[in-house]
Amino acid sequence: MKTIVRRVYLLDGGALDVESSAIVPGRDYGTRIQIPVQMFLVDTSRGFILIDTGNDPDVMEDAEGIWGRALATAARPVMEPRNHPLEQLGLLGLTESDIRMVIYTHLHHDHCGGGRFFPDAIHVVQKAEYRWASRPDQFASLTYVPSDFQHEQLSWKLMEGDLCILPGIHLISTPGHTPGHQSIALWDVPECGSLIIAGDAINCESSITDDLPPGFTSDASAAASSMHRLTALASVAQASLIVSHDMGFFDSLPKAPEPLRNMAARTRELCEAGLSSIYGDSLDPAQLM
Ligand SMILES: [Zn+2]
Repeated sequence: MKTIVRRVYLLDGGALDVESSAIVPGRDYGTRIQIPVQMFLVDTSRGFILIDTGNDPDVMEDAEGIWGRALATAARPVMEPRNHPLEQLGLLGLTESDIRMVIYTHLHHDHCGGGRFFPDAIHVVQKAEYRWASRPDQFASLTYVPSDFQHEQLSWKLMEGDLCILPGIHLISTPGHTPGHQSIALWDVPECGSLIIAGDAINCESSITDDLPPGFTSDASAAASSMHRLTALASVAQASLIVSHDMGFFDSLPKAPEPLRNMAARTRELCEAGLSSIYGDSLDPAQLM
């Protein structure tokens, strides 16, 4: 299958100031850290696709008013005007009307807050995510902001499970961080190779090596399974795995207007360490058979 993807760009949506163990469970409990807020622009032969839209840029003016006090305190936005999705598109000479489709990994506040700027696009998310975001259980309600995604002018397309949505673009169901979380695989990107955008299925590179799913989950066991699935997939496909909230990793990547490059060697090393932490070292064959 020939891919329609030509290039992929990482857009800088600013950061959030959060408590460390919300990202990696048990790590530096009580310490505040800054985590990146990422968006991706996919240049295809059918037009441009955005993956995630970051925070609602209005939080730069009034985070408590938009998010409520509890969320604005738990996840304090660190944004400048240049982190607005339209400003980021401007780095490539694009405007909102260039975006044909927006794909969301999930509907948490730091992944869909800019969706309303793209009323002409098709908005794609898993059906399970849209349902949960619209009626979350109490423990998960803090991180969903209805004004992010409940806009009459937005046209939603709700997907179920794994799907090849366009040639070279797979949606991969990775529940656990949220019930309808999905990751996005972009196969055989020219001059880059295959990319797997994990979303919050994998928060940090060390999440893989330490075998720790996100600190915030709707189902921690499912989240661990989703992380293992992505690790194995990236390993066999020799893809570059993009984790979501790791500032060191984010700092090391090229940002728009530079396209992403091949990091398969880095991912391979990471996956090998991750797979050995999941499966352990081989037993002695002579003892077994
Ligand atoms: Zn999330």
